Amino acid sequence: MTSDSSDVNQRGELANSQKQVEQLSQEVLELYRQVNLLYRLGDVFRSGLQVEDVCALLIAESAKVVRARGACVTLGEGVKYGTRITDPASTLTVPINTPQGRIGEITLFDKKRGFFTAADEKLIKAVARQAGVALENSKRIEGLIEQNQALETLNDELRAIDQMKSDFVSNVSHELRTPLASIKGFAATIREDPEMDREVIQEFVGIINDESDKLIIIINDLLDVSKLMSGHMDYNLEFTQLSRILSEVVALLMIQAKAKSLRLNLDVQQDARVNIDPTRMSQVFINLIGNAIKFTDEGSVTATLTATDREISVAIADTGIGIRKELLPHIFDKFYRVENVVHQKEGTGLGLALVRGIVDYHGGRVEVESKEGVGSIFTVTLPTSLVAGTRVNG
Ligand code: ADP
Repeated sequence: MTSDSSDVNQRGELANSQKQVEQLSQEVLELYRQVNLLYRLGDVFRSGLQVEDVCALLIAESAKVVRARGACVTLGEGVKYGTRITDPASTLTVPINTPQGRIGEITLFDKKRGFFTAADEKLIKAVARQAGVALENSKRIEGLIEQNQALETLNDELRAIDQMKSDFVSNVSHELRTPLASIKGFAATIREDPEMDREVIQEFVGIINDESDKLIIIINDLLDVSKLMSGHMDYNLEFTQLSRILSEVVALLMIQAKAKSLRLNLDVQQDARVNIDPTRMSQVFINLIGNAIKFTDEGSVTATLTATDREISVAIADTGIGIRKELLPHIFDKFYRVENVVHQKEGTGLGLALVRGIVDYHGGRVEVESKEGVGSIFTVTLPTSLVAGTRVNG
């Protein structure tokens, strides 16, 4: 071998090893880039992202790191993120695992055949592991957020109930204090004046009597609601003509309607003899017709009794102040009063709760339609299975 040819050989080897070093440093650089990406992804994934964000990041970064054309993620029962490319020549599918097990998979696509290498698979597996941890965390966070929201709603409801109870206590105290003050005042006046005219005494005693009646009504309502709540309300069922109950209630409340110059009408279109507790059912109509009179300043209150083959209905319509639409769902709650803020009309907010409880017991329902400033219609509907002579199956 001449010195010239050995020179050429040496130069060739040098060039070769230079190429190898270049290739190696390229691979080291690539590896460094990938490891760096994994660290970066780990940090991003751990920063409490939502499920959709984790998946979007997983798709973008996985495709980028192996230079694939596209990627998609499938979670659980087929929830998909990303899009498949049409007719891929190569696919690489890697599971996404959490400590609890497999929760989905990521698939990468490319148009070139044999595109993905074993090294790519290893790398995507590492990325998918990081994403699995992130998805687990984000699900935990989402669960916590949901729990928090549920707790907040519960808290709001508890606050509203608390407010309702405070309003109720102040209402009831007011409702009890007013007649009591009047009873005490008139009784003291009679006692202090032994010379008082018999006529004046009669008038004062009449007022004391009326005010005592108001107290008895409130106390009875309170006792009834507590019985209703504990499930200890007793019912004595007997066949009763519904029109008779309504006529009695209308006669009883006529004085109140007249005092406000309201027309109080009873329209019996179809009568029925039904198996009900007459005292409790009277209480229902006293409350509904009493409310209609209380919340109407002009016009009329009409109770209409109708019956079909399937149902018996009593509708109580008034031309009163009406009820705002958004408040309608609450008015049957115990203690609820639309006018809790400004106390103008008497009441404890127990009447409609009692009405609903009694009607429910009889297998019926009570509904309301109302328009503010126009009036309200409260309808009690009872099943015909209560009608005398009806055969009840079962
Ligand atoms: P209250 O003792 O206040 O009458 P209720 O339970 O009978 O209690 O009624 C609850 C609330 O529903 C009333 O405070 C009132 O705001 C509203 N309401 C009931 N009936 C009528 C009606 N016919 N017209 C307008 N508002 C009514």
